Amino acid sequence: MGRLMRDKESRKPRKLTLSPTKINTYLSCRLAFKFTYVDRIGKFFYKPKSFHTFGATLHRALDEFHKQGGAETQSADELIRTMQSMWTSAGYSSKQEEAEHLAAAQQFLDQYHSDHVVEGAKTIFTEKQLRVDMGEFVLMGRIDRIDEHTDGHIEIIDYKSGRIDVTEDEVRADTAMGVYSLLARRLFPNKRVTITIYALRSGKKATAEHTAEELSELEVMIRLLAAEIAQVDEDSVIEPQWKPDQCPWCDYLSLCVKRGGWRNIETSTDRTTLA
Ligand code: SF4
Repeated sequence: MGRLMRDKESRKPRKLTLSPTKINTYLSCRLAFKFTYVDRIGKFFYKPKSFHTFGATLHRALDEFHKQGGAETQSADELIRTMQSMWTSAGYSSKQEEAEHLAAAQQFLDQYHSDHVVEGAKTIFTEKQLRVDMGEFVLMGRIDRIDEHTDGHIEIIDYKSGRIDVTEDEVRADTAMGVYSLLARRLFPNKRVTITIYALRSGKKATAEHTAEELSELEVMIRLLAAEIAQVDEDSVIEPQWKPDQCPWCDYLSLCVKRGGWRNIETSTDRTTLA
């Protein structure tokens, strides 16, 4: 292949990929989406946060636990030791905050271990990335756990490390769970698929099953969104807009303060407001 041809190939736009995180970022702030996925400047602004570190540690420990055979071969103490070996201090504001989170993680995993032996279910995948080519774009999602039940149905399980409670309606309305359901139905076309959110803090869980009609509506919505997202490029001009429930905690706040000419930003260790 000649150099000209190779240059042309390398300039060919890649097919848009959409994940629940990308979709949720776009829906919550188009500018944050552009900074993160188009301009790719997130690494210069990212600040470690305790809830990210905490959630990631629990996810990694549970992934390893299931890869080692789950509750059939691993005791609760082994699961907790696995978590401790993966523990990282990034994002915790003090030794005390870190110690409280570590104690909580031990308690959640102990509870998870007792709850895990569910009769009739076999964990077939953990941290599994599913991808489906939807034509104009690729839909993908990383699933925490996939169980297969003795009646043949597939259960998609999403761990939430920050939640205490969850209801069936919340599971049904959750965008990420909708995407997982859509992906699983495409990849396991002859199987029944249920979706579950497992709140690690309390051990509570809720399960829902999307109807074919709900999934069709979701697919239409994602296709419309994909067409809109595909229009965002380096040249798109998106003005920052102050969102009191979001901007104060956003990694791009300093950038938006400058770009938006926001005045009277009041900051303290736990509060940022546009006065
Ligand atoms: S600070 Fe606000 S406007 Fe700026 S990127 Fe973040 S969420 Fe969007």
